[in-house]
Order: sequence, then structure tokens, then C-alpha cells
Amino acid sequence: MLDSNRYSTIDEKNKREIVLLRGKGCQWRKCRFCDYHLDFCKNENENFELNKRILNMIRGTYDVLEVVNSGSFSDLDKNTVNEILRVCKEKNIHTLHFESHWMHRFELENIRNFFKENGITVKTKIGVETFDYLFRESYLMKGIDTDKPEDIAKYFDEVCLLFGIPGQTYESMKNDIQTGLKYFERICINIMCDNTMPIKPDSRVKEIFAKYLYPAYSANERVDILMDNLDFGVGEKSV
Ligand code: SF4
Repeated sequence: MLDSNRYSTIDEKNKREIVLLRGKGCQWRKCRFCDYHLDFCKNENENFELNKRILNMIRGTYDVLEVVNSGSFSDLDKNTVNEILRVCKEKNIHTLHFESHWMHRFELENIRNFFKENGITVKTKIGVETFDYLFRESYLMKGIDTDKPEDIAKYFDEVCLLFGIPGQTYESMKNDIQTGLKYFERICINIMCDNTMPIKPDSRVKEIFAKYLYPAYSANERVDILMDNLDFGVGEKSV
């Protein structure tokens, strides 16, 4: 992937710079709709060299940074984490957003404290995809072993939802949005794009979202909507 596909700015709502870094790879890797985790490398030095180049593109434009890495923040090497801190301090970034899988929830407090000691607030995001426990765990294989959104909210500030999956309905998507907004500071709705995995997007579900739900939530400051997974300006097409 080109370096230029790993840096972007999000210029509306929660304005921020965003970087797509590379880690050792998602430790879960079981989600049946995802091939993002293919963007990984086991060589820490190579990852650090790449990540350093990308982090040096940060300008501090909005004082807020989002780091994504096709997996969890815990998959990043220590030098990269230190470099994130160095750049945040140099560019006066006061808030850092990053993602993590549920399996790393107990590691988050240490990471929060590490940045907090340096005056940086961490906002953690989890890809929950849906709050329908049976659908999520039997079909999507997310690996989040609680059916209570309040349990998830103990560790995470923000959630990603995934819409456009066969079996979803207007009611199920609306319920996920309302639950997300009730328990979390912000939600990010990703509309499913085709990829190399067995679960394929359902165009009828996508149409229902676009026609009835997008107009209701598109102006909401607490809701990001990615009709295409490249809408944040980072990443590349997988198929
Ligand atoms: S969706 Fe996230 S947790 Fe699931 S396999 Fe992909 S990168 Fe890993």
C-alpha cells in the first residue's frame, strides 16, 4: 500500500487527522466478514520504519488524532507507541482515538494512563458491529462474550457498527444505532463493502439504510457514516 493511502484528514464532525499504521496483525482474525487483518507484518523493525514515516505526516491540524491499524492498538510495537506519543506532544495533539478488540480490554487502562501522564486523552473504539448477541457471535464471530452494551461501555468510549449484512433489517439497524448512542459517546457506521470473505454485502439492506436511516442520522455530530470503507481517506480496495 502506498504511504499516501495511510494518512488523511476528516474535515467534518469530530475533525481529526487519521493514520493507518501497521502492526503484528489482529490476534483475533476470526470475524467472518473481514480481511483488513491481512495488512500486517511480523517484523517489528519494518513496521516501525513504515509507521514512523506515516506519523511524520501528521501536522496537528485539529489537535486530534485517530490511529487505526487493521487490528488492535495492542498489536503495535513499543517503538511505534513511543513515536505516537512523541508526535502527539510535538504537534500539540490533546486527544488520541484508537481501536481495540474486546480480548485486549484489560490492557486499555495502562495505555490510557500512559498517554494521560503526558496530557493526552485516549478515546477507545471497538468494532461491535451489532448489539444482537446471537447474530454477532454465531454468524459474524466477533468474539465479544457479553450481551450487555453497558459491559462494553466500561472499557470503550465509541463503537463501530457494520450494516449491509444479509439478515439485517430497518428495525435491527435502528436499534443498533439507538443502543450505540445511548451507551457510547460516538458511533461509526460502516456500510459493508465486498471483500474476500464468505459473508457478502446485501444490496437490499444497504438500500434500506440509505433510504430510511442515512437521512435521519447523517447530520448527527455523534455519528460517522462510511458509505464506502475508504471514506476516511485511508486504506485500499481489497477486491
Ligand atoms: S474485524 Fe477487527 S477483530 Fe475482526 S478479524 Fe478483522 S481486524 Fe480482527
